[in-house]
Amino acid sequence: MKNKFFRMKFFLNFKIRDWKKAQSFCFLTFFFWIITGICFSAQPQKSKEPVLKIGLVKNLGEIDIKIPFGGDLRDIYGRKAKIFKNGDDFHWSLSAEVAFLNQQAKSKNRKQKKFEGFIGKKFYIISRGPLTFKGKSYQGIFLLFFKNEGVQIINFVRLEDYTKGVLRGEIGSLAPIETLKTQAILARTYGMANLKKHGSDGFDLCASEHCQVYLGASAERPSITQAVDSTRGIVMGYGSQLASPMYHSTCGGYTTSNDEVYGGKAVPYLRRVKCDYCSKGINYRWTRLIPNDLLKKRLASEKIFFNRIYSATVESPAQLDRVKNVVIVTDRGRFSVKGTTFRRIFSLPSSTFMVSGLSEDNSKLALRADLQVPLASKQGKTSFEIIPVLADLSKINGKDPAGFIIASRNGLKRIARPKGGWKVIIAGVQSNFSRKSIPEKGLDIKSPGRVLLNKGQSTGEALLRIIGRGYGHQIGMCQSGAIEQGKLNWSYRRILPFYYHGVCLMRLRY
Ligand SMILES: [Zn+2]
Ligand SMILES: [Zn+2]
Repeated sequence: MKNKFFRMKFFLNFKIRDWKKAQSFCFLTFFFWIITGICFSAQPQKSKEPVLKIGLVKNLGEIDIKIPFGGDLRDIYGRKAKIFKNGDDFHWSLSAEVAFLNQQAKSKNRKQKKFEGFIGKKFYIISRGPLTFKGKSYQGIFLLFFKNEGVQIINFVRLEDYTKGVLRGEIGSLAPIETLKTQAILARTYGMANLKKHGSDGFDLCASEHCQVYLGASAERPSITQAVDSTRGIVMGYGSQLASPMYHSTCGGYTTSNDEVYGGKAVPYLRRVKCDYCSKGINYRWTRLIPNDLLKKRLASEKIFFNRIYSATVESPAQLDRVKNVVIVTDRGRFSVKGTTFRRIFSLPSSTFMVSGLSEDNSKLALRADLQVPLASKQGKTSFEIIPVLADLSKINGKDPAGFIIASRNGLKRIARPKGGWKVIIAGVQSNFSRKSIPEKGLDIKSPGRVLLNKGQSTGEALLRIIGRGYGHQIGMCQSGAIEQGKLNWSYRRILPFYYHGVCLMRLRY
């Protein structure tokens, strides 16, 4: 009461002439509050560990979730709908529920308590330990959203558990420990920087490559646990902000700036970096051969139609650099396909490549070869019999072979490459060749016969030979390079700034 009275008195005694004093008092108070507020917020505060919502599946017609440690099923108001004992299963099927509801609607027993069904509702499965779904175990809680199309599962998981569930799918558990720590910091930072990436779908991140591959608790390994635990809460920042990192498998010599790949604003820490640490990796350089048939089929999906391709070139700033467009000249005209589109439709490892030209599809030529053998005719003229042959091309590997094995009905024979190439292959047959006298051991190459390769069959069977570098979008850290740096005992404090210039490390306290 005394205090209240005092405050009232102070208020009543307040006069207009004190207004200026009051103004400066208010200003000072406000200023003090701002300053202390800033200082206070600059202090690392201990808070709750963030929980991420990871979309596991959607539109599933049937689910079977194992609850090894028991728990319960709760509605969105927290009311328990079902209690699970250790080892219980939760099974649900859309068709079974629909059938049951239909049957119930027809039933005349109105006094019987009606089953309302799950469709249109959300339930949580809360357990004392990991939940198992499709053979994988997951930490945290499952949110099940039952819809007419099926059920959606969202895994509510703490940031550190999420990070542990990401490492195996993104880099494996066998990388050097410092590389794993680097990847843990990136996975954690990516998770925090991309909350609401799938906001319209009702969760934060998906569990696939689109966001980060998340395999749950089953994917944890001692090395992963060690890497995540020893970097607990550490995230990468730029200035005072959380960085939004990107990383990829292999850069193939140098990484790429973010705007060169996706356009948009240039991010200062996602610039091109020279990296030869990945040169031992399998995707440092790669080759792909695209047969004409596949070329036609896949480009038809981009509304490009032709029968034969005459030439292919790439538009890129330098050799083996990011391809802006692939230009193809065909019997139906000239077409330009975006480098990223070309990469997608032919599943190329990256969009940094060059076209080394067209080459003939030797496998197809050889497989269609016919062996033409002379037969003595009654009139003394020579006639020919055509025997289809098969070529064993398993050792060719896309290179123009110096020779190959023909498996005819007469046995196996190695055929050397003729000077003029593979269009006509000289083979040999015995001069007294007849069907009945074919030797078991095969053909005699001393007496020439001919393996004819129909020219009409070989044309149009062109292969587009593509040579490229790197695997992935090539922005940010090159994982193959970081693995080699880890082997050289580089710490994560050295690996991260190598790929992301000007970044700092921050620790979330929880
Ligand atoms: Zn995603
Ligand atoms: Zn690299």
